[in-house]
Amino acid sequence: MTIDAPEAATEGAQSAEYDAIIVGGGFAGMYMLHQMRQLGFTSHVIEAGSDVGGTWYWNRYPGARCDIESLSYQYSFDDSIQREWNWSERYATQPEILEYARFVADKLDLRSGMQFDTRVTAAHYDDATNRWDVETDQGDRYSGRFLIAGTGCLSVPRLPDYEGLDAFEGDWYHTGDWPHEGVDFTGKRVGVVGTGSSGIQSIPVIAEQADSVTVFQRTPNFSIPAHNAPLTQEQRDENKQVFQEMRREMETAAPARAGGAMQIPKAFDLTDEERQQRYEQLWDMGGVAFLTSCADLLVNKQANDTAASFVREKIHELVTDPKVAELLSPHDHPLGAKRICVDTGYYDTFNQENVSLVDLHAAPIEAITAKGIRTADAEYEFDAIVFATGFDAMTGALLAMDIRGRDGVSLNDVWAEGPRTYLGLQVVGFPNLFTITGPGSPSVLSNMLISIEQHVDWISDCLEYMRERDLGTIEATPEAQDAWVQHVNDIGDATLFPQANSWYVGANIPGKPRVFMPYVAGVGPYRQKCDEIAAAGYEGFELAKEAATV
Ligand code: NAP
Repeated sequence: MTIDAPEAATEGAQSAEYDAIIVGGGFAGMYMLHQMRQLGFTSHVIEAGSDVGGTWYWNRYPGARCDIESLSYQYSFDDSIQREWNWSERYATQPEILEYARFVADKLDLRSGMQFDTRVTAAHYDDATNRWDVETDQGDRYSGRFLIAGTGCLSVPRLPDYEGLDAFEGDWYHTGDWPHEGVDFTGKRVGVVGTGSSGIQSIPVIAEQADSVTVFQRTPNFSIPAHNAPLTQEQRDENKQVFQEMRREMETAAPARAGGAMQIPKAFDLTDEERQQRYEQLWDMGGVAFLTSCADLLVNKQANDTAASFVREKIHELVTDPKVAELLSPHDHPLGAKRICVDTGYYDTFNQENVSLVDLHAAPIEAITAKGIRTADAEYEFDAIVFATGFDAMTGALLAMDIRGRDGVSLNDVWAEGPRTYLGLQVVGFPNLFTITGPGSPSVLSNMLISIEQHVDWISDCLEYMRERDLGTIEATPEAQDAWVQHVNDIGDATLFPQANSWYVGANIPGKPRVFMPYVAGVGPYRQKCDEIAAAGYEGFELAKEAATV
């Protein structure tokens, strides 16, 4: 059996059989659906939320914004989208990004191919029919020749296993699963646990409203000011003219640490004064671009130390109490080896009288009590607790579904020691399963929109290639996967990333195997590799014509 020819495909038919089942209606699933339609494949998107948007549908906490500039954080596949859409600020808020996703869904009529409020619970490959049998929590059963996971890298919120949470008499929230009606903290005593990007973005906003905010910090993070501002009409118009050209440059870029096209200097090619000046410039510019201040920041610890010291000095300048400033200053990991944060007024917030900081390294949380939080040396009373404690990143959403490949083998078992993929796109033993921005691809180390478009385009080309040649299945070979995993590890090990206890290595989840999951070579070299593999007839994949035995 092969993929339906375009003329035979009937989108929207009542049949529960599709060419592809797409899991997730975020930016990945949305574009994948559009491409499938363009190519005449039938497909069906299953999404847990009540609308499109994925991570931006759920992460509605106060202050939620993207840390990639809005003018870059948008689709490029259809130029009319960026021409018709107008971003209001340098860094878009969550509501505006969600509005953008809705705008695209309206424009391309995407919702008609999507089923909302539904979770995929199981997806099993049937060796007899060479199809994926998919079950949902609504009792649906679908069949797809292809299973395409657009499940996101940061979509499964992680709540630590605290004793006593059920007994807490106040309200509690997780930043990654925020109430849609919003939360009014006026007059409340609020505890916030966690100081990653979500904590750092939400704390200043909660502190504007609440009576008091107590921040529970286990590990301080490096945060760079966003210097957010409204965009002018002129800036927007200018961007519309150059957007496609700029995007093509970004898509082929080598990472800054490799020198890149921008001729970025190495830290010790500069004098102390020049280096300081460069850090000042990038600090004033704001945002994650600070990591591009020197080409070797993520490969040379001494170089990294110079940038880390610069940021620590800034923290001491911004925070008036030197003890608090020191507690907020990271010393345990190289700058950027954990996802760098981008903030608006985070450090200043600790100068407010209603904000205090608790050091969990000195006294860890022992339990949640009826009244609040008990640490090893004190008990704190709250009306509300906000857990900004992160996600089961990169593998969490895939492993939450019961995915079984050939011979009923479970993905959970195959990845028991950590994820193994070929190109972050396929897994040996799971034919016709594709993972958009899967582990082993640049994913979270890139602008996600760039990586999503690249993967969706690659998968679309692959499906067309198979249709043209009457091929039924594609599966990574064990040799290609082993070599890719080795390569991902080798280049990861040549950087400072593995030195941090980050979610990049799964360190935030007790018991999760410690494996550095993203591919660090940069989206340009990665794209080139993927394109070469496709041009060589999908080297490292086995493509079979095999007919179903039913
Ligand atoms: P995160 O970076 O994993 O931070 C979680 C925080 O919770 C950390 O400070 C962590 O401390 C703390 N924590 C976890 N378990 C704890 C426990 N048992 N007791 C005390 N503290 C605990 O999660 P996140 O802030 O949600 O961000 C995750 C990623 O999502 C970001 O890195 C970013 O890629 C993305 N994100 C992006 C944006 C944006 O675009 N601006 C916004 C939000 C999120 P330790 O460090 O000690 O583990």
